[in-house]
Amino acid sequence: MAAKKISIVGSGNWGSAIARIVGQNAAAHPGQFDPEVRMWVFEEMIEGQKLTEIINTKHENVKYLPGKKFPENVVAVPDIVTACQEADILILVIPHQFLERSLTPLKGKLKPGAQGISLIKGFHIVPSGGIELISVVIKELLNIPVSVLMGANLAGEVAADKFCETTIGAVDATSDGKWLQAMFQTPNFRVVVVDDAKTVEICGALKNIVACGAGFVDGLKYGDNTKAAVIRLGLMEMIRYAEVFYPGSKLSTFFESCGVADLITTCYGGRNRRVSEAFVTSDKSIEDLEKEMLNGQRLQGPETAAEVNFVLKAKDMEDQFPLFTSVHKICVGEQKPEEFINQLRQHPEHM
Ligand code: NAD
Ligand code: 13P
Repeated sequence: MAAKKISIVGSGNWGSAIARIVGQNAAAHPGQFDPEVRMWVFEEMIEGQKLTEIINTKHENVKYLPGKKFPENVVAVPDIVTACQEADILILVIPHQFLERSLTPLKGKLKPGAQGISLIKGFHIVPSGGIELISVVIKELLNIPVSVLMGANLAGEVAADKFCETTIGAVDATSDGKWLQAMFQTPNFRVVVVDDAKTVEICGALKNIVACGAGFVDGLKYGDNTKAAVIRLGLMEMIRYAEVFYPGSKLSTFFESCGVADLITTCYGGRNRRVSEAFVTSDKSIEDLEKEMLNGQRLQGPETAAEVNFVLKAKDMEDQFPLFTSVHKICVGEQKPEEFINQLRQHPEHM
C-alpha cells in the first residue's frame, strides 16, 4: 500500500502540539506515511514577519505553542488548497467558530479516497433548526468519511511529552483503527480506538460546558467538594444528552479518555475553566477576557453552551439540564454566577 500523505488543517495551540507528534511519527514510519506533513496555517503577521515563514525557518509556532520545536518535516502552508489537495488523511483541528469558512475552499478539491479525522470540540448550529456534530458538517462539506480524536489532552502538557491517553472514535475501526493509532501514538500519548465515534465527539464538545461551571465555582471560592459535584452532575447531563439526542451511545465510552478523564483535566487545567473563573472575579465580559488572557487562542465552552441551549430551549428541556442551561445563561448575562449553585439544587439527580 502507498504511504499515506498527511495534512493538518489548523495550527493553534492543539494543532501545533499534534503536529509535533504526527510529524515525528510520519518521519519514523516512511513506508506507512509520507514523511512530509503539510500544516495549513491561517496566516498572520508576527512583528512584521509571516507566521508561516517563522514556522518554516525556526520550526516553532512562536505565537500558539512557543518554546516547542516542530520536526523539520512539518511544513507550514498558508493556502488551504495547496496544503490539502494531495492528502490521503486530513487532521482537522481549528476552533469550531472558523470551520465552515475555512473549509469551503476545499470543496471538490480533495484527492479521491481522502479521509478526515476531527480533533475539533463543539457543535454547529443549523440555521433551519437544531445542531449538528462537527464531523457531520465536515463530511457533508468535503464528502469524506470523518473519524474523531478526543481526550484528556491539554496541549501544553502533550507538547511537554507528559504521559496521557486519548480516544479515537473511528468510522471503521476494523479497517482504519491500526493506522490511525500508528499516526498518533507515542510512548507518552497512548491511543485507544473505539467504534462509538459519535459519543466520543459528544463527550469532547459537552465537557467544555462543564469546565465553565467548574471555573464559576472556583471564582466563587467554593471548595473541591463543590467542584466534584459540578463534574459529576456535568457527567450525568452529558450521558443524558447522549441518551436523548444520540440513542445507541455506549455508556462505556464515557469511561474512555474522551469522557471522564477529559472532564477532569479541563475542569482543573483548561482555558474554559480559567477564563470562567476570571469572569466571576472581574467585571469583564467573557469576550474581553478571552482576548486579554489567551493571546489569540479561542474558547469553545461558552459557544458550545449556546449551541446546546439552542436545542434544549426549542425542545422545552432546559429544566432537565440545569447545569448546561445555567452555564449558558451566566455566559450571556441572563443569570448571575452567584445563582449557579441554586440552579444545581433543582437538579433532576436530586429529585
Ligand atoms: P486555538 O485555541 O489555539 O486557536 C487559535 C487558532 O485559530 C490559530 O491557529 C489561529 O490561526 C486560528 N484562527 C484565528 N482566526 C482565524 C480565522 N479567521 N480563520 C481560521 N482560523 C483562525 O486552537 P486549538 O487550541 O488548536 O484548538 C482547536 C480545536 O482543538 C478546538 O476545538 C479545541 O477545543 C480543541 N482542543 C484544544 C486543546 C488545547 O489544549 N488547546 C486540546 C484538545 C482539543
Ligand atoms: P480548554 O479548551 O478548556 O483548554 O480544554 C482543552 C482540552 O480540550 C483538553 O482536552
